[in-house]
Amino acid sequence: MTATKKNSSKDNRAPSRGLFVNTGNGPTFQAIDIGHPEYMAVIDPDTAFWSLVKKEKLADVLSGGDLSRAYAKKSKQFAKEMNTLRFGLKPSAVYFNPTERCNMNCTYCYIPEKMRRGGKHMPEKELLGALDILKQHFNSTLPKSSKPQIIFHGAEPLLNRDAVFAGIEAYGKDFLFGVQTNATLLDDSAVDFLTSRDVSIGISLDAPTARIADQTRKNWEGEGTFKYVIDAMKRLKGYDGWSVICTISSANLRYLTALVNFFHKQEVPTCLMNILRCTLPPSRRVKPGDEQAAKYFLAALDRTYELYQETGRGLPIGNFANILMAIIAPGARRLMCDISPCGGGRCFFALAPNGDMFPCSEFIGIDRFKGGNLFENDISDVLVTEPFKMVTGRKVEDIEPCRRCAIRHFCGSPCPAEAHEMNGGMHKTGAFCEFYEEQVRYALRVIADGKVDAYMWDGWEKGMKDTFAIQGV
Ligand code: SF4
Ligand code: SF4
Repeated sequence: MTATKKNSSKDNRAPSRGLFVNTGNGPTFQAIDIGHPEYMAVIDPDTAFWSLVKKEKLADVLSGGDLSRAYAKKSKQFAKEMNTLRFGLKPSAVYFNPTERCNMNCTYCYIPEKMRRGGKHMPEKELLGALDILKQHFNSTLPKSSKPQIIFHGAEPLLNRDAVFAGIEAYGKDFLFGVQTNATLLDDSAVDFLTSRDVSIGISLDAPTARIADQTRKNWEGEGTFKYVIDAMKRLKGYDGWSVICTISSANLRYLTALVNFFHKQEVPTCLMNILRCTLPPSRRVKPGDEQAAKYFLAALDRTYELYQETGRGLPIGNFANILMAIIAPGARRLMCDISPCGGGRCFFALAPNGDMFPCSEFIGIDRFKGGNLFENDISDVLVTEPFKMVTGRKVEDIEPCRRCAIRHFCGSPCPAEAHEMNGGMHKTGAFCEFYEEQVRYALRVIADGKVDAYMWDGWEKGMKDTFAIQGV
């Protein structure tokens, strides 16, 4: 009994009143250069609290003062919020693969070729049964007010169109549905069906011309998909719920700015420009270097700002907007690759066409990450199996150099699948680091210059309130 008492964290606290920054019980403020002429950032890496500080005032901040005193009053609240975000969420979405097959053979696909060429569809009856199991599960774990999401995902879900559409028809009231497709099968009737049921539609395109786009995205005969995607974009014009996903690789890096121009001209409501995942060896053949990737990606971001200035209409790049959100309001972020542990197995999971469950689509086809089967096991049991715990237990604090990195809760050290498959273990970094550093530095410059609106989707501020405001730093 005495031992427990002695070891309690309260009793073990340093006998310090927390008067000084960076020592004793004082706040931890890491100062970082963000490449801005006037401002630096100070960050408490544990809570993700940050402030932009005029360079000439940095010494004042580190010597204590208003910021440190005000933060001391709020630090416990911030720590609690960060803890909830990192460890207190329940899955509320499923990446549902209704078929193993794909009519395409993209260079960087994470699904093994054998599966994509000759794999199986999930039969309609089973798909409906799976949705029913998921509905029962979410009814018991989520509040009534929240609707779980089902995203029909690749391989190519529209190869199993009848089953997918039957599922959307039958469970439209129970789930928010989305479809991620290569767009080759998105004909008029498919668009009519999906848009009339408010299904969000993500299509894939990597470059603004057929010559470049078709280098990485082609069918089994080697024919590119560019022309099909353009047709689908025309059909989708005017619908709010669609977006385009571009994967940044060495093949399209130099064309990202042109791609931004192209998307803007096509009135794409929002896009993602995701850096390539290097989980499987073939994708590593088109892995760009960090420095080059950052250079061209930031130039594309600059272009979205110019377009916003020139036309009054932006082109939110969702993954970057998510980083801005992660900094401004960590709990409101929508994507979950840039928090640690990442969202895999924690905020969502992935379902293979035979009912096998994986923490994220990125692990589909890697047998040791199979946690169980939807038709055979209880979902709650699968979520705590060893394969899931390997992913949900991967924390930045255990990874070198991430554990010392001031921006670790704006980056999250993605991706566990890359870390494991490419770099040899869960406690390794993933495929990129400097790219993420530059992205966060850019985001902090955007905030310093008051340009946030230009990079966000309309209405992003709705429902937000200040939890911390201090002037004069
Ligand atoms: S970091 Fe990797 S495993 Fe985690 S959610 Fe993102 S893609 Fe999936
Ligand atoms: S990957 Fe790099 S930027 Fe991200 S947390 Fe780790 S050290 Fe920091």
